[in-house]
Amino acid sequence: MTLTSPEKTTTEAAAPLPPADPREHLTSPVTRAALRVQQQLLAGAREYLTGEGFAEMMPPIIGPVTDPGIRGSKQVDLDFYGHKYKLMTSAILYKQASLLAFDKIFCIAPNVRMEPLETANTSRHLAEFHQIDVEMAGASRDQITGVVEALVRHSVGRAIAELPAEFELLGRDTSVFQKLLTEAFGRRTHADAVAELRSGGHPQSADAEIDWQGEVIVSENADRPFFLTDYPKGSRGFYDRESAEQPGVLRNFDLIAPEGYGELCSGSEREFDYGRIVTRMRETGENPAKYGWYLKMVREGIPGSAGFGIGVERFTRYVTGLDAAWQANAFPKLPGRVSP
Ligand code: AMP
Ligand code: MG
Repeated sequence: MTLTSPEKTTTEAAAPLPPADPREHLTSPVTRAALRVQQQLLAGAREYLTGEGFAEMMPPIIGPVTDPGIRGSKQVDLDFYGHKYKLMTSAILYKQASLLAFDKIFCIAPNVRMEPLETANTSRHLAEFHQIDVEMAGASRDQITGVVEALVRHSVGRAIAELPAEFELLGRDTSVFQKLLTEAFGRRTHADAVAELRSGGHPQSADAEIDWQGEVIVSENADRPFFLTDYPKGSRGFYDRESAEQPGVLRNFDLIAPEGYGELCSGSEREFDYGRIVTRMRETGENPAKYGWYLKMVREGIPGSAGFGIGVERFTRYVTGLDAAWQANAFPKLPGRVSP
């Protein structure tokens, strides 16, 4: 992989670690409240998406290839009857394929990424996490960010309405969501965020994703979630579509939470043209020969689309105001830490 790594973790304060005993974790009032909030967020997401005509699909968890755009983390191989398979790092390839069956799909699925050891106490990295993954045929970036925004607003509104006692126990003042619930999410470009960070003395690279400290800075300055758009080509996987008008700039976005919680979601319009995908694979250091089934499918035609994935633990952590993403996972697996 030649993607530019944005990870910088050295100056972060150590986050709390999960108890070794799953009973202690699962019976803790904080975990129980966090999982109840998460359950409402998931129910809200399903309610919103099915109401909008999205079909829920059961994605595979193993396959011959998976998402390579995972910056600094490693894929996990397994033996499939003598063939090397991978655990899914994200559902992206299968989301594009699923549009051959439905125009609008979503799945809620686990992903496994062997994140570097030094990310174990960033408060936001798990080696196993979950995503709400959505893909829509024929959608533009504006349409799909509209889906993100409505989904987040609906899910958060539902959790707040259903669980006042849990928010009280967690010490999370739900008035912080007032703007999220009532005002359009902000929107700014990657280049704009880079300029702001540099003028404030933060050495942010213009060619990479916003690094974690930079993300905290732009996140802390916000009063509601906002979209960062137009990432540079070298910073993301081959499936984020390159702008026809602005070569080198991707038709993609992240959703950044306020209060310093950082990235909740990444998404984009997708590349769907065979030649462009093969070129982008080569540019990102991927060997097209590994992607046999996917490239055959693309060559025979797939719909253009746009989609996104929201990290369930990071979303829950932001809504609950917890210290670390693992607190929003029933069986947390931190990089390098042996656990159930
Ligand atoms: P990515 O494809 O890397 O942008 O991941 C999509 C979303 O999944 C991110 O916006 C995060 O919310 C979440 N995510 C990615 N990696 C991790 C991780 N190691 N631990 C927890 N959540 C993650
Ligand atoms: Mg991302």
